[in-house]
Amino acid sequence: MIKTEKVLHLKSSRGRKVRVVREHYLREGVACGSCACQAACDNEGKRLPDDLTHYVLPDVSVVVDFLELLEFRELQGIIFTQTACQAVQTSRGRRQYNRLRTLLKDPRHDCVLFANEFQEYSYCPREKGESQDKWQSRCVYSAAVWYFNHLAGLMDIVMITDDQEAVTRYSSLNSGVYVVSVQEYLQSFWPELPAAGELYASVRQALQEKESEGKEGEFTEHLPPEVLEAGIKSGRYIQGTLNVSKHRAQTEAFIRTEDSSNKSSGGSGVLVSGDKNRNRAMHGDVVVVELLPKSEWRGKTSTLTEARGEEKSGEGGDSQPLPTGRVVGVLQRSWRDYVVTFPPRDATQPQSRNSQRILAVPWDHRIPKIRISTQQADALQGHRVMVRIDSWESSSLYPNGHSVRVLGRAGELETEVQTILIENCIHVPAFSDAQLKEMPLSSPEKPWRVDPVQVAERRDLRDHLVFSIDPLGCEDVDDTLSVRRLAGGTLLELGVHIADVTHFVGEGSLTDLEARTRATTYYLADRRYDMLPAVLSADLCSLLGGVDRYAMSVLWELDAQTLAVNQVWFGRTIIRSSYQLHYELAQALLHGEKVEVKELERLGSEEKEVKLTELTRALETLTHVARHLRAQRDRGGALELEGVEVRAQLDEGGNITALVPRQPLEVHETVAECMIYANHWVARKIQEAFPHQALLRFHPPPRQEFFGQLVESAKAGGYTIDTRTNKALADSLDRAVDPQDPLVNRLLRMMTTQAMSEALYFSTGAQPVDQFYHYGLALDRYTHFTSPIRRYADVVVHRLLTAALAAERGGGPGRAASSNKELEEMAQHINNRNRAAKRAQKLSTELFQCLYFKERDPQTDRRCVADAVIYSIRDNGVLVFVSEYGVKGPVYLKNREGLVVASGPDGGCEWQSGSVRRSHDHISTASSCGTSTFRLFDHVTVRISVHSSHCHADRLDLELVSNRPHRSAAAAPPQQPSAQGRSQLVQEVVRLAEEATQQKAARRPKLSREEREFSQSKTPNLYSLLEEVRELALRDLDLDLDLDPVPPVCASTA
Ligand SMILES: [Zn+2]
Repeated sequence: MIKTEKVLHLKSSRGRKVRVVREHYLREGVACGSCACQAACDNEGKRLPDDLTHYVLPDVSVVVDFLELLEFRELQGIIFTQTACQAVQTSRGRRQYNRLRTLLKDPRHDCVLFANEFQEYSYCPREKGESQDKWQSRCVYSAAVWYFNHLAGLMDIVMITDDQEAVTRYSSLNSGVYVVSVQEYLQSFWPELPAAGELYASVRQALQEKESEGKEGEFTEHLPPEVLEAGIKSGRYIQGTLNVSKHRAQTEAFIRTEDSSNKSSGGSGVLVSGDKNRNRAMHGDVVVVELLPKSEWRGKTSTLTEARGEEKSGEGGDSQPLPTGRVVGVLQRSWRDYVVTFPPRDATQPQSRNSQRILAVPWDHRIPKIRISTQQADALQGHRVMVRIDSWESSSLYPNGHSVRVLGRAGELETEVQTILIENCIHVPAFSDAQLKEMPLSSPEKPWRVDPVQVAERRDLRDHLVFSIDPLGCEDVDDTLSVRRLAGGTLLELGVHIADVTHFVGEGSLTDLEARTRATTYYLADRRYDMLPAVLSADLCSLLGGVDRYAMSVLWELDAQTLAVNQVWFGRTIIRSSYQLHYELAQALLHGEKVEVKELERLGSEEKEVKLTELTRALETLTHVARHLRAQRDRGGALELEGVEVRAQLDEGGNITALVPRQPLEVHETVAECMIYANHWVARKIQEAFPHQALLRFHPPPRQEFFGQLVESAKAGGYTIDTRTNKALADSLDRAVDPQDPLVNRLLRMMTTQAMSEALYFSTGAQPVDQFYHYGLALDRYTHFTSPIRRYADVVVHRLLTAALAAERGGGPGRAASSNKELEEMAQHINNRNRAAKRAQKLSTELFQCLYFKERDPQTDRRCVADAVIYSIRDNGVLVFVSEYGVKGPVYLKNREGLVVASGPDGGCEWQSGSVRRSHDHISTASSCGTSTFRLFDHVTVRISVHSSHCHADRLDLELVSNRPHRSAAAAPPQQPSAQGRSQLVQEVVRLAEEATQQKAARRPKLSREEREFSQSKTPNLYSLLEEVRELALRDLDLDLDLDPVPPVCASTA
């Protein structure tokens, strides 16, 4: 080992120069990280494959300025030098450095770190008078030469640089070591990856623009980190997360501090008013604020904007001055990828000089305009583009950024869907070849078969009557059920058998990493993006009928009379499902209707009768058990809530022909109840085994003040809602029924949902035991175990259960694989992704609702007129629910011109001059026509039209047509699942679903491009997670309670 001294002249990001002398040890054995190694290096961890045409070493400035280019997964064999990594750390700060480290750690990216400055033969000391840039280039080149020699010339080495001088100096020194410019490299090696070339050009353009920028101050400089830190410690400054108001994005933002978000009172933190005080901070940034003198404190703006009458309890007229402050520094940027729209040419700013800098408008209202440098400004007009922000200097009114990818023309379906994905940091590329290589082989010619070794190790349940009940057309069957009588009928055995995903997905494998990153399958209104490759989700893990499958089972032995649990067994099994039922079919069997079961088609009538009776019996027993379990939870206070679920029905061209609200059936409940039971028992099991490292799910009780609107609305309708406990709430909701109008109860349940907190995953070591309670389900322990194909939490839970069982048997490590801290981080990641999934689902439903109505003329098309019911009264209007389409929104009774809605003798409404008066349970308008009154729970008729927005999402506008119920609705009251009408309804639903399935098949060729691109299935959303109906109803449909949730953090920059 050789010791030398290394003198570094570092320049900090703030321009200070520092001279550092470091002792420096050189070694001969520094790992090369290559499978082509000829020298027996000690290569641990990630290695570059040896079947590539070349390895590539990016020069320092390439790593510093073009890191995102190197993040393309297609680029393989990248060697990052230590020299370059250190340069990123010193010149680009922690965020960028962490990004580089993440990239290096990620096994899905073919890149390694080479400690070139510790390698005796590649290290080159800096020469006197040599500039830092030149020296760094020489280091990288020297490393390139070292690699070529170390791999004995078996691999060509390419150094890429942006320094033309380096190209000239080095390119002809050694054969086998090529030095080329980045542009040339991309053009000659990656012509099939034009996106990389475009990204390079766009980053380069942004860099050039930055150099030519002025230095005049638009904003105050941010304070250096050490000053901020000292200020926070001394209490002079406050640290928190910036939340920009959704409806007043230009002017209002709030700082959510640690204690304000913890306090049950929900203190609103600090108000930041105006863009000068916001000082370049953006939504989600962790910022430091200084409070302004009390004389400058302001109140929140309280008038309802035209934007949207979002519902939130506690939006009173009071406008008490709040602590008000200004941002003095940003600790952590939350910059992510943003979707922007390039405005039409005439609307753009006058262009400065001959540059091509366009102010693009982000899709998210809360993000300021971003200045993009581009050569294609004309071509991009009216397009949505994914961009990244590079910087926001104090001299600039707007942040500077560069374009990354053009999504397409605004308003087109594919563009809008991509927009929704990007805005929620949902990254769902096609599964890579390397990931697919991990999968077991299975083809029609050579189907996968069970392994005899596994059969010997597993409990064999292939002779049990096992069946699945799912939505029609479901491919990913992750749960099955069984029930049978034991001991002469005195005992019942209930079984829940779940797909054994962890058998196929090894912890830490590439597939596992991808699934963990996604954390869930994403369901949009017209498609889904799977968490696992299709070979698993639709085949090997899917518990299909008539084939042997591995499962994780829970078997309860129950007393046949009391249904008390005698004992429970958990473990790995092998099953063969006999029937793949869908909900409507199972319900029809339970009603004793004559239906065809496809598994029995070929049997003779006698045998068929026997089998059918056996199956129906099992379904009946299951219903009986589920009713009992449900009653048990009801006594504990379980809530039944209402979410609006609508699905779009598409025609061959992908156009929406109808929006169909989902119909509930009892068999949904039966399946859901069994799954809840399994989840509960598994939660108990893993929590016992791992008191501090088990992944559970809790649902905190709601905050009482959020019940304000519910209680008041109910009171107006003559009902009393008791919110003190979940039991009281559930009971009072059950009593709040209008026999004339079933919608009233539905609305009250919807409002209850609105007031609920979010159910969340957590690690048992991170919470006191008394906080484990699941309020909505009324269970003391809960987790997710039953859907490992589409939820990563369940995968984690399967592994925990396996470890717990191994420990019990005395084999295996008997400990959880993750520490409490790691598990808690995982829980947060999954929670974050679930929020993104819900937001994306909601946005895509709204998108489809808008697309549905965009096609129609609201003045002439009958389908644009619908019945609506009033569920909230506001100062200048009401909030209504249109049950036919599952649409909620404001109806204004007073417009900007001061006109009010007046209804004539026939109920027809028109705008007239007049006034509005609001009371707690009604609102009246007075005009020359007289007085019109609108009460809570009144039915009215509205016209639905689309409010088009070029740069943002479209939205629906509701306008009052008549203050009477919609006529066709009055003639034929909304269909109710009555005993008589039910089978008709079921048939209708089945028919529609079948049509949708056929249409999907018919549409396939048309969508083949996307299918290739994502290698994922696209199906109409017939599969919302129905077995979780109740839990899904707890979703935060509009949880934008003033403090919007912090935007998702993309995994790549975590
Ligand atoms: Zn080596």
